[in-house]
Amino acid sequence: MKHKFLELKIHQRHLDKYKNQYPLLFKEAVMGNHVFEDNSIQEGTLLKLTDERGHFIATAYYGIQNKGIGWVLSRIEKEKIDALYFKKKLYSAIEKRIKLYNNPKTSAFRVFNGEGDGIGGLTIDFFDGIYLINWYSQGIFSFKDNIVKSLKEIVEYDAIYEKLRFDHDLIEENDGLIAGKPVTFPIIIKENGERFAVYFNDGAMVGIFLDQREVRRTIRNNYSKGKNILNLFSYTGAFSVFAAKGGARNTTSVDLANRSLERTQENFRLNNINLEDHSIVVEDVFKYFNYCDKKGLKFDMVILDPPSFAKSKNFVFSAEKDYPTLLAETIKITVNNGIIVASNNSSTIDLEKFKQMIGKAFNMGKARFEILEIHQLPKDFRTNHAYPESNYLKVAFIKVIKKSKTVNP
Ligand code: SAH
Repeated sequence: MKHKFLELKIHQRHLDKYKNQYPLLFKEAVMGNHVFEDNSIQEGTLLKLTDERGHFIATAYYGIQNKGIGWVLSRIEKEKIDALYFKKKLYSAIEKRIKLYNNPKTSAFRVFNGEGDGIGGLTIDFFDGIYLINWYSQGIFSFKDNIVKSLKEIVEYDAIYEKLRFDHDLIEENDGLIAGKPVTFPIIIKENGERFAVYFNDGAMVGIFLDQREVRRTIRNNYSKGKNILNLFSYTGAFSVFAAKGGARNTTSVDLANRSLERTQENFRLNNINLEDHSIVVEDVFKYFNYCDKKGLKFDMVILDPPSFAKSKNFVFSAEKDYPTLLAETIKITVNNGIIVASNNSSTIDLEKFKQMIGKAFNMGKARFEILEIHQLPKDFRTNHAYPESNYLKVAFIKVIKKSKTVNP
């Protein structure tokens, strides 16, 4: 598509933000934003943003996501948004991941992380020679030709796949294959020496969340030996695999989705872990809490990594509202001096707020705690300092202290 140019003024009250590198364009910041209302402007249109007097601030593209209506691409007035522009951005991102490309123990990581690498709405992941591009709006998708061409020029690949993460009525053929040879799924990737099955043909989630890489390694190396570990919202059991590899006495993985059973078994088998010491429970976590209560079950360590929003038959869970209650329930089933690995990935909850939630949960759970370590995003998930929401991941390793003089039994 040929990209049109539209000049728009930013409201005085939002000016400082955009002058200070803020990358996300939202509707309220734009003067005369009714232009977006009648669908006359196509997604992918380039927007020249100026102050009220017409002085250039930034070039952005128009693309609707739940977060906003577009992303800033450049702050240099003369910079053209052309093939060379995308090539430079991709090249610079890839260069920053050279260490990961050369790491023989890890073959899956993020190559391009949206606004953290200078282009919001676009992510590219690497899975053992195969690239997966995620397009988060029609707007960024309209630049596909240049972006894919640049990627092909910079890297060697076995295949390049895409996922369209916005509403559309296009038919995706060959599971989204756009270059190279079709892959027979699963792709088997390695992460710090452990193996995982990855599928691009089973919805938006591919089997492993790459942003938890360092948390998984920490669990394996420093926290698992000899322990009885519960993994809640376990999905394909990636945390359980690392726990088992770290010498856990046993693990229990709980997830509501039927597919989690097979997929967790598959990952255990890939790592030659004996399934006998590891249970996989397909059930609602909230029901499982009741079960533990009835049976008096307690664990040395509990990993708690819920989605930011989930609906099940019995509950609607929103991390924003329900995290403290969920954590309080988890405290109940953790032994004295046990560990909870509490993870939260809502971009609207920052680290401070998350720590407050932890405090609140321990108040509810009538226990004391000590935060042993906190992890945030690994380096390949680059963030944008001017846009703190991009730094969404917070994982706290918390020691649970139940017996103490200051707490009533
Ligand atoms: N911890 C996982 C990722 C979790 S993804 C990992 O490290 O890979 C979120 C998972 O929560 C999904 O697999 C979904 O099926 C599950 N889920 C959502 N609501 C649930 C509920 N009420 N009980 C159990 N599992 C739930």
